[in-house]
Amino acid sequence: MSQAEIGLIGLGVMGSNLALNIAEKGNKIAVFNRTVEATRKFYAEAGELKGQIVPCETIEEFVAAIRPPRPIIIMIKAGEAVDQQMEILKPYLSKGDIMIDAGNANFRDTMRRFEALKGSDLTFIGMGVSGGEEGARHGPSIMVGGTEESYRRVEKVLTSIAAKYENDPCVAWLGENGAGHFVKTIHNGIEYADMQMIAEIYGILRDGLKMSAAEIGEVFGAWNKGRLNSYLIEITEKVLKAADPLTGKPIVDMILDKAGQKGTGKWSVIEAQNMGIPATGIEAAVAARSISSMKDEREAAEKILGLPPVGEFTVADRQAFIEDLENALLAAKIGAYAQGFAVMSAASKEFGWNLPMPTIAKIWRAGCIIRSQFLDEITTAFTKAPDVANLIVTPAFAAMVKETDGALRRVVSAAVLGGLPVPALASALGYFDSYRRGRGTANVIQAQRDFFGAHGFDRVDGADSHHGPWGSGLNA
Ligand code: NAP
Repeated sequence: MSQAEIGLIGLGVMGSNLALNIAEKGNKIAVFNRTVEATRKFYAEAGELKGQIVPCETIEEFVAAIRPPRPIIIMIKAGEAVDQQMEILKPYLSKGDIMIDAGNANFRDTMRRFEALKGSDLTFIGMGVSGGEEGARHGPSIMVGGTEESYRRVEKVLTSIAAKYENDPCVAWLGENGAGHFVKTIHNGIEYADMQMIAEIYGILRDGLKMSAAEIGEVFGAWNKGRLNSYLIEITEKVLKAADPLTGKPIVDMILDKAGQKGTGKWSVIEAQNMGIPATGIEAAVAARSISSMKDEREAAEKILGLPPVGEFTVADRQAFIEDLENALLAAKIGAYAQGFAVMSAASKEFGWNLPMPTIAKIWRAGCIIRSQFLDEITTAFTKAPDVANLIVTPAFAAMVKETDGALRRVVSAAVLGGLPVPALASALGYFDSYRRGRGTANVIQAQRDFFGAHGFDRVDGADSHHGPWGSGLNA
């Protein structure tokens, strides 16, 4: 039997689907899973793709089944498991082999793994894969970090399996070491913000306008035909319209309001904070998931504090308000994406990656969870102005913000007055209002800092006098 062109370790949800995708695109693939039963089951269910797959039950057998120099995708639980798997694999590898971690690694782990192999016979690629199970099977968005030379060696197979947006494959080499996993992390951070904002709008429709799940589903369905057209809006319509097989009620009404998280949202916020870049939409979304998980505390607090003492949620014109909600969601989304791209731009300088912003927007247009028509507009904006300081000052997005931020203001005001929590939507409004204001209020903070800590300040007139007339003995 001829040798496989590529290998894959880890036949969980993502790995098994990615392996089938690779096989289907005409690439011969060797597969291995720590638990042998998973390999047997996978192969037994591979149907007509069996001829393209070499199932292996030991690492020796697996490595021998791949033609050297070997590209080996590791698609397992992120973290220590990857280090363990690499250590198990290494003794069997030979010159030129590439280990490709395709899980959701922390990019700092990726940088460490990349550095550890630098100068050796082996190479490491950190590859972000987005699109969930469906994407892995039929075309994910793939964000690659490593040496350009190692990427060129796997480019053909990755291009064959990636999602296509109008024939453009959604895969790219983004830079050395941790670049791919960093971009995937920020992709997920933006995804957190996008999902939270959708959930807040759902909350206004449910608790403010007292609409049923199916009615709200209709609203999202209509929005999916407009400027909000995206995978997340599309699936929101579907989940809102789905019935619970056990009770016949809408399934969303039967799902506990506790959201899980695995780390990429938190890492996005930490890295943004490390670099001093505001990512308030992602921060609000991560915090909202944390509050959501405090179900018992929230229920106890509701008994003590009660819901905010506000009257009925009233809007003068229901239809006009629903249009405002659509525009508010678009405005808030612009804020979250602008922040995510600003974080990547800062990281590019910090880590010397030269991240290509138009390319990143381009490879997110299809395959990944945040795919949308909107990303095509971001691609165009960054193609015209690749070095712009912030997406919201590009001509197209500045116009969109000016057109929609009034709706965001009305929606946030109505929600606040109605006692409905909208932390992510409100954060976007606060971001726009702060970012667009030439003269802010940090002069008071500087004065306070100088008062208690003699930190000094710069003056608006440029005069060479950097301390206030606070007098001695006041700064106790
Ligand atoms: P999964 O279905 O839970 O599968 C986990 C896989 O990891 C199994 O093959 C498991 O092998 C293997 N594994 C766990 N610990 C291991 C160890 N110490 N040594 C070797 N193998 C080990 O997970 P998944 O959803 O496919 O996710 C895989 C990776 O993709 C993760 O990094 C995840 O964050 C990332 N990811 C997931 C999604 C998604 O939508 N699910 C999307 C993008 C990226 P056994 O069968 O032996 O337990």
